[in-house]
Amino acid sequence: MRYLDSNSYYRQRFGHRMYKAALSLDVTCPNRDGSCGSEGCAFCSAGGSGEFASPADLTISESLDMAIGKLSAKTGSDTGFIAYFQSFTSTYCEPDYLRRALLEASAHEKVEAIAVGTRPDCLPDEILDVLSDVNRILPVFVELGLQTSNDKTAEWFGRGYRTGVFDEAVNKLKERGLNTTAHVIFYLKGETREDMLGSVRHVVESGCDGIKITCLYILKGTRVADEWQRGELALPTMEEYFDTIERALEIIPRDMVVHRITGDGPKSLLLAPMWTADKRAVVNYINRRFG
Ligand code: SF4
Repeated sequence: MRYLDSNSYYRQRFGHRMYKAALSLDVTCPNRDGSCGSEGCAFCSAGGSGEFASPADLTISESLDMAIGKLSAKTGSDTGFIAYFQSFTSTYCEPDYLRRALLEASAHEKVEAIAVGTRPDCLPDEILDVLSDVNRILPVFVELGLQTSNDKTAEWFGRGYRTGVFDEAVNKLKERGLNTTAHVIFYLKGETREDMLGSVRHVVESGCDGIKITCLYILKGTRVADEWQRGELALPTMEEYFDTIERALEIIPRDMVVHRITGDGPKSLLLAPMWTADKRAVVNYINRRFG
């Protein structure tokens, strides 16, 4: 690959391929419960970006057994799992609740690392203490939803915090030795290619260890779905999207892990761009162009 993709990174670090077992905690998000918003981000589905995660009403061990069982059946691998707390804002809870959940996950015999998806404004010191403590048992990867470094765009989709909050959070995570990845979304409303590359540059300069980039998906029932139906959003063709990715890869240093350069939204909810639904075609295209 022309960049450090996650498979290569995991092989370097763990000696083999790793698979993410997606889980849900019993949490919501400050952007949904009224603390900083009640409607959620404009692109976020009712499942809080956790459509692939196991249900939150199971214990962590039960959820892991279920998620790992599915992954093993699909991949044939019985080892190398990351317990991925994906839905909503996984640190938007009491520190003790998070501690119990992460310790239960880290005690699972097949789990070799923990990943926690969250917002940078939900990382008070008590939560950082929990993440640091668990990081002494198994590697903890923290994933922050930045989406854009452009505060004006962030206001449009209702992110609910300013980019400076992200910068402070990355500093605190790095001070504690926590591996940090930022999520960026390309083709948010009104953003030019230079805006998107500006977000990538911001993440690189922030000191993050990794980056995940996806295209804006239009999912049923979201606010962006209404805007898209009114013709107010310009989504890229696959070629246009990967032209922008190519420029982004020129900015990203070779030691920064590029966890994703595209994703696949839940098919049952996806309205656009439909090329993202053909996962095999997208993977083949990526391998041809960037392999
Ligand atoms: S912060 Fe995350 S979970 Fe909350 S509304 Fe935005 S995308 Fe959804």
